Amino acid sequence: MPVRSLPGFFLIAFLFAACNLYFFYQLRESIQAVVFIFFVQAIIEGLFQLKGNTWIHLLTIPLPVLFSPVLNLKALIFILLLQPLVHIRDFFHAEILDTNIMVLIVALLSLGIWAIFYKKNEQLKELTASFDKLNREAREIADSASVLNDDLILSRYVTDREEIVRDIKGILNILERAITADKVIFFMQKSDDLHYFASSIDNEFETTGEGIIYSVLTRAQPLLYCPDESDRKIEFGYVSDQHINSFISIPVNDGRITIGVLAAESRRYKAFQQHDLDVMLIVAEEIVRIMRRHRVISQFRLAHQGLRILHDESSGLMELLELEGICSRIIKATERLAGAEVILLLKKQRGFRVYSSSSLEMKAERINSLKGTVLEMVVSNKEPLHLSDLSQFKKGLKGIVEDEYKSLLAMPVVKENQIRGILVVLSKKKGGFSSLQVDLLKVLINQAFESIENALLHEEIKMLAYTDGLTGLLNHRRFQESIDRELKRAERYNERVSLILTDIDHFKNVNDTYGHPVGDKVLREVARMIKSTVREIDIPARYGGEEFAIILLNADVIIAKRTAERIRKKATELSFKADGRVFGVTLSLGVATYPDDATEREDLINKADQALYFAKENGRNRTVLFREVRPESP
Ligand code: GH3
Ligand code: MG
Ligand code: MG
Repeated sequence: MPVRSLPGFFLIAFLFAACNLYFFYQLRESIQAVVFIFFVQAIIEGLFQLKGNTWIHLLTIPLPVLFSPVLNLKALIFILLLQPLVHIRDFFHAEILDTNIMVLIVALLSLGIWAIFYKKNEQLKELTASFDKLNREAREIADSASVLNDDLILSRYVTDREEIVRDIKGILNILERAITADKVIFFMQKSDDLHYFASSIDNEFETTGEGIIYSVLTRAQPLLYCPDESDRKIEFGYVSDQHINSFISIPVNDGRITIGVLAAESRRYKAFQQHDLDVMLIVAEEIVRIMRRHRVISQFRLAHQGLRILHDESSGLMELLELEGICSRIIKATERLAGAEVILLLKKQRGFRVYSSSSLEMKAERINSLKGTVLEMVVSNKEPLHLSDLSQFKKGLKGIVEDEYKSLLAMPVVKENQIRGILVVLSKKKGGFSSLQVDLLKVLINQAFESIENALLHEEIKMLAYTDGLTGLLNHRRFQESIDRELKRAERYNERVSLILTDIDHFKNVNDTYGHPVGDKVLREVARMIKSTVREIDIPARYGGEEFAIILLNADVIIAKRTAERIRKKATELSFKADGRVFGVTLSLGVATYPDDATEREDLINKADQALYFAKENGRNRTVLFREVRPESP
């Protein structure tokens, strides 16, 4: 067929080119689909030109029509504008009317189908967007949580449950259509019962406790119920909103475990056949896959959260040197990881020093033995102990904590086969710790252990620097620091502090008569006697050569005098042997009290010293209060 009008053709070609150029820039994303459709059409058209079969020519029609539901409007118009190009040869050789009608049919069909699907797509988009938003929000809340506790795990579960329900609902919808059922329902097994989980429609279905779905569950066998006429007595196992005349149910198995039951119902008689069962089995497998995938994702997210807490809390741990700081850091990290109460027991000589979480109060109490408690096992086995139901054990945590706890996780710190400490995590709920939490806590305690070792070493060095080598009491420097600190504390709490200064009488004679080593022995014995005579909270120190100082906390002048007298008497009871002779010592003591006698450290020491001097002046082997030095004072 000759060309009808060359200028007309160029005009049309120019318009096409301009429109295509515009849409090309607008449609980068859909361009692949457009190019694909166009090329397939071009190939088909090419074949038609070669073979001349009209039916091949007609094949170009369904392509844009088929793709129209997934294309957006601009992409669709673009592909329609390309249609004359597909049939360009016809414009020259075929009946122009035929070609135009064909292009018009393609355009009308595509646009019509596109319009039908447009509405559905919009609804779907809206639904997806609202689900995504919900998920995002839940995830944000969970991510910002600082403790890996039950709330976090629960909120994860809720988010995940929504995701799972959405995924499973999607697949149930497909199943419903594939086997032409009225509805398809998935029931999940939970503590020996079946519970509604998801369905192809929006209703929820209540289970009744007995019926077909229950026997499918217990027998783990599929069941096809398709009677010729209705049996009203049949029990299906859940409350349906319609009369069921055809029913099909299969178990959903994850490996050997049945996790639930899938059921499809229809009002029609003989609605299902054997091959519908096969389709359901495939869907059941997919449901299990969805469940597994979500389980992995959810575990992964929790692990990620846990590792972040671990990183936050353990970084900087090594720089800490103070034992107290490390202990409170470990306790805080453990609380964040386990969302529970924590006690840290650190070996101290024969017993344990106790550090506990804020709600139990940070205390440095001593526990002498763990005998008779469940922790005895940890000490003997030197292995972590995880008890998810503490009430089953006769031995509890007596003497360590007062409250009732249901689950316990105890992790020992072991070095050179010796127990150095135990981290005890407690929860008031049964099965309070997940395996992830247990793993993370193991990592934490291993890291923390290094820091604890460092701190203990540091404490040892500090003690060496603070104590007097001969007597083991605090040295002069530490005494000055201690009295400073205690006076400040007394001021804050409005308490009294007394200071005793004591000096061995005629000590020079001991040295001169029996020699310096015997003098040293006397000093050690006197120091030991003083330490055992004062209270645990009081602070004895070696003040100088044969002088000692004792800071008496929360002690007024009466208590101080009584203490001083007790020391003086006990000193007279000491006896020493040297060169075959037995001898004793006496002490002179001076007492001053804060704030009665002095409010400043130096002044207080000075006044105790004046009282001591007064005791020496007045015959030795006596206690003198500063107020007795100056009779005019009350
Ligand atoms: P007074 O009753 O007046 O206190 O008489 P005193 O002899 O105790 O007096 P003085 O302060 O003159 O003597 C203290 C002696 O204590 C002198 C010193 O040799 C001795 N001394 C100081 N430090 C030590 C020590 O570490 N070991 C021994 N063995 N003796 C010491
Ligand atoms: Mg002396
Ligand atoms: Mg002296």
